[in-house]
Amino acid sequence: PSAMREVQLEVPKVLWSDIGGQEEIKLKLRQAVEWPLRHPEAFTRMGIQPPKGILMYGPPGCSKTMIAKALATESRLNFIAVKGPELFSKWVGESERAVREVFRKARAAAPSIVFFDEIDALAVERGSSGGSSNVADRVLAQLLTEIDGVEKLKDVTIVAATNRPDMIDKALLRPGRIDRILYVPLPDAKTRKEIFQIHFRKMPIGDSVDLESLVNRTEKYSGAEISAVCHEAALAALQENIESSLVDSRHLELALSTVTPRISDSLIHFYH
Ligand code: ATP
Repeated sequence: PSAMREVQLEVPKVLWSDIGGQEEIKLKLRQAVEWPLRHPEAFTRMGIQPPKGILMYGPPGCSKTMIAKALATESRLNFIAVKGPELFSKWVGESERAVREVFRKARAAAPSIVFFDEIDALAVERGSSGGSSNVADRVLAQLLTEIDGVEKLKDVTIVAATNRPDMIDKALLRPGRIDRILYVPLPDAKTRKEIFQIHFRKMPIGDSVDLESLVNRTEKYSGAEISAVCHEAALAALQENIESSLVDSRHLELALSTVTPRISDSLIHFYH
């Protein structure tokens, strides 16, 4: 039984144009990852080093995974995705070995991005789960060793995502490690509009649909929830008539009443 089976080289096909809004984050990531690869001499001339690692944090379903994939696709980087919890194994030593394996693959595939989703699961603050030699502590230690690497992490960028930045051990976020920290917020009005438009491009939409009103009524919806609204509306149209060729305002109305935002006000405050 091996956790390493989870480690796979992927070729994502997500484009920047598949992601509504979030322009500032897109730009910052391109500056951090794409520019140093494309123009290494410019960075040397300025005397600056590209970051080794970037952390995106924010509420669930707001495109962190899509952004990491688009960065890989558009910068033509190999992409290795790991979900934090999947790396854990009950076999002693297996989890650390899995972490080493991830980085070995990333170096072999350079230039590459290693994407750690739910990194909080891998890097919980030490001591917070009791005992000093538990698996979590050893995995974190291994992760730090890899990042500081004797074998220099050349052209490998770590991109990590979490909904719980407070859970991450501060050692991981020190300068020279994952030290670029970007907040990926709930979509604002402009972003929500673009997310609807992206989904509507793929479905037949009736004239009765009022985009502005949808935008105004989806405050506090995540991108994933807006996507669910579109999906539900299409199903409602089909349920009415399986030959149905249009999604109209009634279907969206129905979808808005079934898909409601899950984020609480306290969680919104938590990120600020
Ligand atoms: P989690 O924190 O739950 O892992 P995430 O922030 O990584 O979520 P994604 O998995 O990237 O979010 O997004 C979930 C889905 O929501 C996407 O597959 C997409 O359909 C939709 N979505 C979210 N944000 C956007 C956006 N800005 N533009 C287009 N689609 C979006």
